[in-house]
Amino acid sequence: MTNAKRKVLVAGAGIGGLAAALALLRSGFDCEVHEQATELREVGAGLWLSVNGTRIFQELGLEAELRAASIAADARLVRLWNSGEEMPLYRHGDSAATHQPFLLLRAHLLKILVDAVRREKPDAIHLNARCTGFRQDDDGAWLLRQDGSEIRGDVVIGADGVHSRIRDQVFGPVPSHYTNAIAWRGLVPMDRLSPHQRAHVVATWVGPNAHVTVYPVRWQGTDLLTFSGQVEHAGWQGESWSEKGAKADCLQDFAGWHADIVEMITAVDTLHKWGLFVRDPLPHWSEGRVTLVGDACHSMVPYLGQGVNMAVEDAWVLARCLGAAPGDPVAALSRYEAARRERTARVAAGAAAMQTVFHNQALARPETAMDYVRAQWSPAANAARYDWIYRYDAISEPLPAAALAGAAA
Ligand SMILES: Cc1cc2nc3c(=O)[nH]c(=O)nc-3n(C[C@H](O)[C@H](O)[C@H](O)COP(=O)(O)OP(=O)(O)OC[C@H]3O[C@@H](n4cnc5c(N)ncnc54)[C@H](O)[C@@H]3O)c2cc1C
Repeated sequence: MTNAKRKVLVAGAGIGGLAAALALLRSGFDCEVHEQATELREVGAGLWLSVNGTRIFQELGLEAELRAASIAADARLVRLWNSGEEMPLYRHGDSAATHQPFLLLRAHLLKILVDAVRREKPDAIHLNARCTGFRQDDDGAWLLRQDGSEIRGDVVIGADGVHSRIRDQVFGPVPSHYTNAIAWRGLVPMDRLSPHQRAHVVATWVGPNAHVTVYPVRWQGTDLLTFSGQVEHAGWQGESWSEKGAKADCLQDFAGWHADIVEMITAVDTLHKWGLFVRDPLPHWSEGRVTLVGDACHSMVPYLGQGVNMAVEDAWVLARCLGAAPGDPVAALSRYEAARRERTARVAAGAAAMQTVFHNQALARPETAMDYVRAQWSPAANAARYDWIYRYDAISEPLPAAALAGAAA
């Protein structure tokens, strides 16, 4: 039987689900994506694709579209929360700038993926299709939808995000732990800001109990600054990306911060806030013909900017594993999770560990603050923190051999 006759059903048209669908369609599989939303509209937010993620977009032939949608930063800075004193991690043209990320809006990345999926298969994406679970037997797997319909395929992928229904069916509710920090997020048209704030710079402002990351993105010819501020707060409950927050509360959270930060918050139209939670690594991701990708299996705090990149890596490796053993999806899925679980757990742990780096009492005192920044963001510290993440090449990374036992490839 050829790949073309194998059908993969994906729950969730987020970045992970769409990247998986695209990689699978390109490998000759049939694929359908079932998304709960009634339209593919996005809450405004920026993201960065680092080199480990962009490699995959290059392989998918989407680099030119990505470049057109992105802004390349001229510099990356760490800045002090109160004085604004700065330390450059790189400036344009430095050798360290080879890890320069693509900065763009989630909405833009989703559109690039949606268009690419529809070019492969115009009716691949089904909207208003909330998935409630799955069932499977030796011959196939079914995606169950809230409208009562059951879609038959060979494999089911749960790409349904942090509150995954597919994951819940395998494991039951997975406990999450609040990290004592919330995130604020907003977009500001650049022309509302003072001229010195309009530079194409990625800046991470670090303070004793909070940090803020700002960078430029572009939408329909307008440059915007994306603002993402993480603040320590005890006893938060919500883990929703779309909850709105009051500007006065955000200003209160950043009381005493530099005038640039206050200007940004004041200029935002809509602020979103959500609690930052972590989950312990899952003991496994797959059950027979069913597996998970992205936040469904390894949600992480955004402190290394890797949530999206890990979802895209998962998608590519999953397509490789299924492509290598189309006749034995159970073995292919177990090979996939063997290839991915350790790396994603390490990235998630690394991201969680950054909280005490970004938020540190040494930053409260002017006499220790810059020494702390120079030590924490020295070239050696940056290399230890990021190089192993960026070096990973999902396209050529050898796949674990052992899990192929039993595969009919
Ligand atoms: C609005 C939003 C803003 C984000 N902002 C940031 C950020 O600023 N920084 C950061 O590091 N990470 C952020 N993330 C997380 C980051 O984007 C994820 O780590 C990454 O996109 C992983 O993608 P995913 O496809 O696994 O999950 P998601 O992007 O969450 O996509 C899951 C998709 O599944 C759909 N879905 C959910 N349940 C069902 C169901 N039962 N049936 C059918 N469809 C379902 C959802 O509607 C969604 O389209 C954000 C996520 C969202 C959704």
